[in-house]
Amino acid sequence: MSTPSDLAPGGLELIRRFVNTAELPDGPDELRSLETARAWCLSHGLAPVKNEEHLALLGAFREALRALLFANNGAGDPHDAWAALGPFLASTRLSLAVNSDRGLELRPEDKGPIASLLAMVYESQLLGTWQRLRACRKPTCRFAYYDRTKNASRAWCSMASCGNQAKAQRRRQREKQLPA
Ligand SMILES: [Zn+2]
Repeated sequence: MSTPSDLAPGGLELIRRFVNTAELPDGPDELRSLETARAWCLSHGLAPVKNEEHLALLGAFREALRALLFANNGAGDPHDAWAALGPFLASTRLSLAVNSDRGLELRPEDKGPIASLLAMVYESQLLGTWQRLRACRKPTCRFAYYDRTKNASRAWCSMASCGNQAKAQRRRQREKQLPA
């Protein structure tokens, strides 16, 4: 569950919600079928998933984004994570367009979910907000949240669940390493 302090600014919130359409390790998955994925896309202003193949691609794209957010948390390899995003560009059409309020922007040529989300990743990199969108450092959790701490130091989706568990685990490991 997200708290209001987890919410990301502007379009970045859509990416956070998209990554959290599956709650790991075995929570509900809003992209589990064509029907649920179409409903999710429509309720978030995106074109609906076309077919099973597109659904599988969208699921893989979600995990590629999650790997990037995990890397934003210092927990994964950012080079590998960016490289893994490359193939998804082939399935999209994005072009530069003039927005008379904001100048140049990257615009998806349709409202396809992958193109729309990629445009938002690009925009948030320009705005400097991208690095703060993170996936929880606990590998089995990796829930997406926006880090609003002053020094961008938040590592866990929730201190009460993941943070304290990690601390207790580190303590147990340290105790094991102590000489008897
Ligand atoms: Zn977590």
